[in-house]
Order: sequence, then C-alpha cells, then structure tokens
Amino acid sequence: MYRNPAGLVAFREFPPVDGVCVPTDMVSIQKSFNAVCLPLSRVIRTLILASVLGALLATDARARDVVVANDLRAGVSGDRTRFVMDLTGPVKFSYFALVDPYRLVIDLPELRWQLPARPLPRNVGLIKSLRYGLFKAGASRVVLDMGGPMQITAAFLVPPSGNRGHRLVVDMKPGDRASFMAKLVEPRRARGRARDRDRARPPAPARETAGAAPGLPIPNRKPGVRGNRRVIVIDPGHGGVDPGAIGRSGVLEKDITLRTARTLKRRLERNRRYRVILTRDRDVFIRLRDRIAVARRHDADLFVSLHADSIRRAAVRGLSVYTLSEKASDKEAAELAEKENKADLIAGIDLSTETPEVTDILIDLAQRETMNDSVRFAAELVHELRRVTTLLRKTHRFAGFAVLKAPDVPSVLIEMGFLSNRQDERALRRKGYRARIADSVAQAIDRYFERIEQAER
Ligand SMILES: [Zn+2]
Repeated sequence: MYRNPAGLVAFREFPPVDGVCVPTDMVSIQKSFNAVCLPLSRVIRTLILASVLGALLATDARARDVVVANDLRAGVSGDRTRFVMDLTGPVKFSYFALVDPYRLVIDLPELRWQLPARPLPRNVGLIKSLRYGLFKAGASRVVLDMGGPMQITAAFLVPPSGNRGHRLVVDMKPGDRASFMAKLVEPRRARGRARDRDRARPPAPARETAGAAPGLPIPNRKPGVRGNRRVIVIDPGHGGVDPGAIGRSGVLEKDITLRTARTLKRRLERNRRYRVILTRDRDVFIRLRDRIAVARRHDADLFVSLHADSIRRAAVRGLSVYTLSEKASDKEAAELAEKENKADLIAGIDLSTETPEVTDILIDLAQRETMNDSVRFAAELVHELRRVTTLLRKTHRFAGFAVLKAPDVPSVLIEMGFLSNRQDERALRRKGYRARIADSVAQAIDRYFERIEQAER
C-alpha cells in the first residue's frame, strides 16, 4: 500500500498502465529515463469526447480549447514518489531537471487551474514543495523542488477511468548526483550550440561592459524634457509559476502586486502627462531581465517594482522602499534582495545558461546619475507613504536587486508590507488600502517630476 502522508494519493490511484508504450516526442528530454505510455485508442476516444464537451462550452471561445487542471497530488511508496496532475483532457508535456537546487520542471500547454482549496503537497517523499502557473503565453509550467538528486522512472498520461479523469503521472526514485548530472548532459548539449558560439566571440573589455548588461549599450541619458509625456513602467512582482510570498490566509504576493499595479496605472492615467506600462497585466511569469527590458524598450522615465514580503517573525510589519546598491545597507536588505532575485530560479529557469547581465552586473559611473534619481524618488515615496501607512524602520534601504539594474532608468522597489503579518496582510487584501498606497505613490511620482522640471527651468 502506498503510504500517504498528505492524504492525497491512495494506492488504487496508481494507475495500471494498460496502453501501448510508444516512443513519442512528448517527452523531449531524458528519453533514457523513461518510456511514454499512451493507450492510443482511449486517447482518440477521449479526444472525441473532448470535442463534444468543447462544443458545449462554446460560449467561451477560450474555454473550448483549454484543459483544466483540477488537482495536483503526490504520494509515497517505499523510496518511490509519485506526482499526479488531474486534468480534464489529454495534454502534450515535456520535462527536464535542474540542479543547484534540484528541480523537476514539467512544461505543458496553457492550462486553466481550478485546484481544490487546500494546501499544495509539501514534503511528500522526494518532493519538498511545488509551484504551478503560466510560464508564458500558451505555456503552463509546474516546478517541483526536490530534496535531492532523483531519477525519473516513468512519466505518462493515463486516460479517464472510473470517476477519475485524465492524469499525468510522474514516478521518481532517489538517485545520486553523478548519474543525475550525467542525464543532464543531453539537454545541455542540445541547447548549448548557441552558447558555444557566444563563447567563441572574444569577450568585450571589462571597462566597456562595466555598469551595463553586456550587449545592452548604455545610451546617453535622455534630456529631462522630452515631449510632454513621461513614461512610467510599473512592475507587479512575480506572476504565473512564481507566486512570490504566500500570506497567512493563503493570499499570494503575485495577486496583490498585480491588483495594486492596475490601480496605480488607473490612478496615474488620470494625469494625461503620463504613459503607463505594466510589465505584466495577467497572471504570467516574466523573467527579471525581461522586466528591465520593458522599461528600456519604452525608454521609461521611471520604473516601479511592487512587492510584498514575508518573513518568519510574524510581528514585523510595515512598508519599505529599496534602491539599487552594490553594497546592501544591512543584512535584512541583502537577504531580501537575494530572495527576490531568486524569481527566475523559482520559475524553473536554468540560470547556468543565462547570460550574466542580470546576475552580476557592475555598477559604475554610468549608473551614478540614475541611482541619484532613484534615491530622490525613493525619498519622495517615503515622504508620501508615511501619511497613509505604517513604515518599516529604516524605511529606505539599498541592496542588489536584479530588477533595479537598468543602467539608464531610475528604479525603485516597494515592499508594500509583510504578508506574514496579520495586520499588513489584512490591509493589503483590502481594495481601499491598495488604492491609498497607489494614491501616495502617484503623488510621489508627481512631485519627483515637478522637482526635475523646476531644476531644468
Ligand atoms: Zn517579491
């Protein structure tokens, strides 16, 4: 019998694989780990069924095609761990593993998530925790944090039977690091060509790239007055497969940040002098570097990243404002930046193939003026926000936040409060409170530009 610490998977749900085992391209990587087993006739039958159901759902054009995930479960038997996704239809999927930390990433088409209102599996066998969500348009992702190196023994789809719908099943057992790494060689090599080409290019002299992302030239700072409209990029932290902090009530940072960002956008757009762009306007994951790229592409005058923290000490509360610095102002700020900079890792991105532009940028004179502007804006923010909310002591702090590293866009990050604190969490869930925060931020933005314009007169 499968032991079931989370009460989620019973033995009888370990489906008998009665289909034909076929090599398919559904599992694109690590073929040596497994065979894909698909009872083909049943898949065809369920496809017909799915299209009948689709016709019934035709009122919503999107609902017709989108498979719904209605549960994520995990169970243990001996040293085996099984992960199961309950789905309303068959899906194509692929998976790959990552190291440091050990993760298993399952890529799927865009799904609709209607999970039961109970916590996700945690510490079930090899699985420490997991996340799910939209990775990019058209692609959903599940990321499993593994307690150690593992071996995938099988990954397959099971068609409906009894009162169970479609299921995606991944079985794994503990492995050792050496063989785990050996399995990683294949996907690395497949993707590695472009990188090798990059490596062949002689590296640019350090002085030229210092302060800027390599390949991202530092433009001259634009003149302060540039037409009438100021471009403001608002960056709702986290999203999709990266939920950010999780509140006491289960509220997710990614939802709080998006709601506040929308409110702030509406508030700012009342002033015709602003053009406001959100780095995301839906529940989707965005890489840290792509958030910066949005600001640079639109030649932004200001970049505001919104977040809400969570820490172990539940009594700690209050809003804080961060600007970029090589040297963190204190240990807490350094730890926070480290946590926020992990967003890409949390979403299952292989950082070893990333260019270092976000991970270790150098700060030099080219950024100095931008940083001074960021600090001035942070001061306006603290001044305004003090009137409407509790502030964390030492409200303005500095640290190496990756998302603040556009060399030519003044950037701040606002931690709107602590989701680990009862009062802060309750406040952040209230629309009226978020509107007050948005009002204050908008006022600080007004004052920041007024001062610049005064100085330029
Ligand atoms: Zn955050």
